Amino acid sequence: MNVYDGERISELLTDNGLAAAADGEEADLVVLNTCHIREKAAEKAYSDIGRLKREDGSRPMIALAGCVAQAEGAEAKRRSAMIDMVVGPQAYHRLPDMVAEASRGGRPVDTGMPAISKFDALPRRRRANPSAFLTVQEGCDKFCTYCVVPYTRGAEISRPRADIVAEAQALVEAGAKEIVLLGQNVNAWEHEGSGLANLIREIARIDGLERIRYTTSHPADMTDALIAAHGEVEKLMPYLHLPVQSGSDRILKAMNRSHTTESYLRTIEKMRVSRPDVAISGDFIVGFPGETEEDFEATLRIVDAVGYAAAYSFKYSARPGTPAAMMEDQIAPEIMDGRLQRLQARIAATQLAFNRSTAGLDTKVLIERPGRRPGQMIGRSPWLQSVHVETSAGPGAMLGVTLTAAGPNSMTGALRQKDAA
Ligand code: SAH
Ligand code: SF4
Repeated sequence: MNVYDGERISELLTDNGLAAAADGEEADLVVLNTCHIREKAAEKAYSDIGRLKREDGSRPMIALAGCVAQAEGAEAKRRSAMIDMVVGPQAYHRLPDMVAEASRGGRPVDTGMPAISKFDALPRRRRANPSAFLTVQEGCDKFCTYCVVPYTRGAEISRPRADIVAEAQALVEAGAKEIVLLGQNVNAWEHEGSGLANLIREIARIDGLERIRYTTSHPADMTDALIAAHGEVEKLMPYLHLPVQSGSDRILKAMNRSHTTESYLRTIEKMRVSRPDVAISGDFIVGFPGETEEDFEATLRIVDAVGYAAAYSFKYSARPGTPAAMMEDQIAPEIMDGRLQRLQARIAATQLAFNRSTAGLDTKVLIERPGRRPGQMIGRSPWLQSVHVETSAGPGAMLGVTLTAAGPNSMTGALRQKDAA
């Protein structure tokens, strides 16, 4: 979502007469778009800001944006005299005004969460990658006890259906072949009684759009309608990112996750009935306060039970202001390190097994960027695997490819005969 926000900030400033600088040294204005989800995010932002001072003592105008800005607010200006503007993730449409104010010597702070959607104030999309992000939903009402998102991104809001469809249309006209619908809780999207499944069906009608993905889903919001769409909408890719966080029901309860391992596994089963080749990915946290060796082993077991095609895993990071930060039994860093390593080894094994299960298949690859070797391009399979292919085709090409070999993190593919000409 920060990539999406960064693109929108850049488009907005470009529309207001600014041009992208080649590098930070040349820039008159630097916008630091920050993430607050884990670790010492604020400290990292301040040290990045310190490094923007130039040898001759000058510096660019500096805007602190994103969730660190939201969490720090006006305090940011006290901590660093170099910060000219502080703008939260729901207020960045105000950046042009704030830049003007800062040029007059002001130091504006906007961490408001206005009822008016920032999206209405942003320019029409004119540039798009072959695979383009589109935010449809923001914020979160779930309040998992470890998570800072409900505080920094605010309450759950869904963008209106017509706005999303118009933005999708503009992205396709600008060259997007694939659209990735984004939200902290994307499957909680709802507008006028209609849910994400209907939105996907509507977007699928856009000519020239070939693929639809969405991320991140919450297990509690995986409706039967959305599961059914995977079996029926051809453009909807066979991939589901569905974070479980832990394989222990005791820990899930302490996390306030509102799903159990059983309900989670049942959802996965239904997905596989609807779309048998679906690839499942997930997120995990190790070392949540009170996590025992037994709880952790349950997490290892759920990795095998699901057979993840990919997964992100993180050491628990205490976020100031969240309930879990105050819990007893915080886990020692060396225990977290050991658990993370064991978990990642287990995930690597299921990922390799998934990749091997796709070797030999004929499929479509959406080319995204050049590979390391001359003549080699990298694209994505329907299952979101990176595929290396020898081809003269450029980004945006959709090629018929045979997956010839499986690696731990990517696949090798060869053009199918009729496409190779
Ligand atoms: N809404 C999504 C996830 C958004 S945050 C969901 O509920 O699944 C992305 C991931 O960051 C989470 O899935 C979680 O695994 C991780 N994360 C969030 N807060 C964290 C924390 N305090 N410490 C470690 N990992 C965290
Ligand atoms: Fe954070 Fe996701 Fe939980 Fe919301 S559902 S609080 S974004 S982890």
